[in-house]
Amino acid sequence: MTAKLILGTEIREQILEEITAEVKEIKAKYGVVPGLVTILIGANPASMSYVTLKIQTAHRVGFNEVQDSQPVDISEADLLALIDKYNKDDSINGILVQLPLPKHINEKKVLNAIDPDKDVDGFHPVNVGRLMIGGSEVKFPPCTPAGIQEMIVRSGTQTCGAEVVVVGRSNIVGKPIAMMLAQKGVAANATVTIVHTRTKDLAAHCKRADILVVAAGVPGLVKPEWIKPGATVIDVGVNRVGINEATGKVILKGDVDFDAAKDIAGKITPVPGGVGPMTIAMLMKNTLKSAQYALGDL
Ligand code: NAP
Repeated sequence: MTAKLILGTEIREQILEEITAEVKEIKAKYGVVPGLVTILIGANPASMSYVTLKIQTAHRVGFNEVQDSQPVDISEADLLALIDKYNKDDSINGILVQLPLPKHINEKKVLNAIDPDKDVDGFHPVNVGRLMIGGSEVKFPPCTPAGIQEMIVRSGTQTCGAEVVVVGRSNIVGKPIAMMLAQKGVAANATVTIVHTRTKDLAAHCKRADILVVAAGVPGLVKPEWIKPGATVIDVGVNRVGINEATGKVILKGDVDFDAAKDIAGKITPVPGGVGPMTIAMLMKNTLKSAQYALGDL
């Protein structure tokens, strides 16, 4: 069997086109566009490249993008005051603080200062609680898990009654995707097992998964014989395993032995080009939703 590829690069394009169309509708109806502020502290090259990508994508879908760059020695009090300013600014629907922050700033304090109704990353404890309650309580699902759920749905994989195994229990991927798929409702209703480093027989759990979501950060952890024939495999892992000497580019590998797994799985995400491109698309979707909530459209 050769698995059908679930390409994040393609699904991202569909989602960004849908968002662009909805932004146009909002503009025509209300004369406003969603506003997103990206706060970048200092000049960490990796952070700068992530922020640039977010800004470009926000412009592409037609948002009002505000880029707020602050010096690396900004005080915690000044950063909190800045967040407070954007919390009160009605033209801003989403507030992003690019991590990591300098050591003198308490990251948790800063993230918790963002108004939960503008927390488009979905990491604020209020949004984590909303996710746990489920249904109409959910405002901003965290972006990577939301991207995974979209990939499952848009690839035509049935979640209702499916056995899902999630490898990894982090707050940003494993726990939220497990909760989202276990909820009562559409694109959910699955029977979910979370496995981790203390799980007794990882292989046995993986083998019964109709949908296997792997977010461990261990290259090639999931062996082909752990995959149930025909299963949908979502590989979240992004592992730098070397440098391509010819191109000078970093070689990325997932947590699944892709070359062998693609002959057993029914559907599978590649790395790169799988889950990775989905995260920013879902960030844009959350920002659009935030504007729609503010306008009373949702
Ligand atoms: P994390 O915080 O390090 O959590 C990894 C989880 O995997 C932990 O729960 C850990 O178990 C479990 N684990 C690690 N090794 C294992 C093993 N040998 N057997 C079973 N479980 C194991 O990682 P994360 O932030 O969730 O990220 C996971 C991967 O996804 C990384 O490669 C990351 O780069 C990638 N990622 C990609 C995106 C994206 O594409 N947009 C976004 C986020 C993350 P314990 O809890 O027992 O330690």
